[in-house]
Amino acid sequence: MSEDTYKKLAKHLDNLPAGFPATDSGVELRILKQLFTPREAEAAMALTMKPAPPSAVAKRLGADEAEMAQHLESMSKKGLIFRAGKGGRKLYSAAQFVIGIWEYHVNDLSEELIRDVNEYMPFLAKTWENHKTKQLRVVPILKSLSAEMMVTPYEEAENIIKAQSKIVVAPCICRKEQGMLGKECGKLGEACLIFGGSAFFYEENGLGRSISQEEALEILNKGMEEGLVLQPGNSQKPSNICLCCGCCCQILKNLSQLDEPAKAVATNYYAAVDEEHCTACAICEERCQMDAIHIEDVAQVDTARCIGCGLCVPTCDADAIHLVQKDASERCALPKNTVETYMNIARERGMV
Ligand code: SF4
Ligand code: SF4
Ligand code: SF4
Repeated sequence: MSEDTYKKLAKHLDNLPAGFPATDSGVELRILKQLFTPREAEAAMALTMKPAPPSAVAKRLGADEAEMAQHLESMSKKGLIFRAGKGGRKLYSAAQFVIGIWEYHVNDLSEELIRDVNEYMPFLAKTWENHKTKQLRVVPILKSLSAEMMVTPYEEAENIIKAQSKIVVAPCICRKEQGMLGKECGKLGEACLIFGGSAFFYEENGLGRSISQEEALEILNKGMEEGLVLQPGNSQKPSNICLCCGCCCQILKNLSQLDEPAKAVATNYYAAVDEEHCTACAICEERCQMDAIHIEDVAQVDTARCIGCGLCVPTCDADAIHLVQKDASERCALPKNTVETYMNIARERGMV
């Protein structure tokens, strides 16, 4: 009976835009069993991405409204579903597995859960290649942009931060879980910048702390110094910016396993080398998280691997590597907001 419940929950999560596909090994069911009780699984399946009050969910399940209100609140505190407040009323909606349930468990990790998620994530990541619209995109670091580029404000992490009135910084779950497995890379620990309604959720759930724009900009600068890739949500009004390393990040790590990561990333840039000035010092090769650069007589960029993060640019003392903006026809369309991003993904998956 409960095995059946978890299979149904897995299917329910797979029917959300970001997906939760079934494997032959059933590792995804092992993950769900560690996270949800059967009763929580039943309630989660009664939710959609559209926020609803407890009364509506209780009606769907034929349950008592007051009990359901308590149950949903407890589930949202455990990071199994999403909670938003509107005019003093609490509304609940389904959380996707990634980005969502997994990240909400940053303070509640066990080795067993980490092992299972690490087994599952490469499988999940393969499906991201098929979505034209991505959940996250890569924006270049400011120091890699030149004045003549037509850069929109949505492509500059600094501008994204300056547009926020509520910012929370949370620990990076990818580096935390790798640390728990003894594979600590030592890079920035607090590296997930969360904005708006999601920031309130993170703060109320004790997943992060509220910070000023100035502190967020300091964290951004530190991340860039440490060679982290900037990955905001893929919309004009992103709800987050992740500062990611190629060694721990479940997204970058799995992307780098692909032959052509550039095809699986939303990016408008790639790097190019000025062969006359390159001294073959190989600093850019070390900075690149995607193994997109190798050194022959001079540095060579494999554009099929380059995700346009710009990290290789400011550390080149010879000014021999720069970013090139893709032609207008090749640039990614940026959804207006997160809802549009997920609607696009759902449409591309044939769900709507
Ligand atoms: S996506 Fe990036 S910043 Fe976010 S948790 Fe993973 S590595 Fe950390
Ligand atoms: S950092 Fe600059 S000079 Fe050194 S190999 Fe790369 S492009 Fe060439
Ligand atoms: S070559 Fe590597 S470091 Fe440089 S922009 Fe491309 S992915 Fe980033």
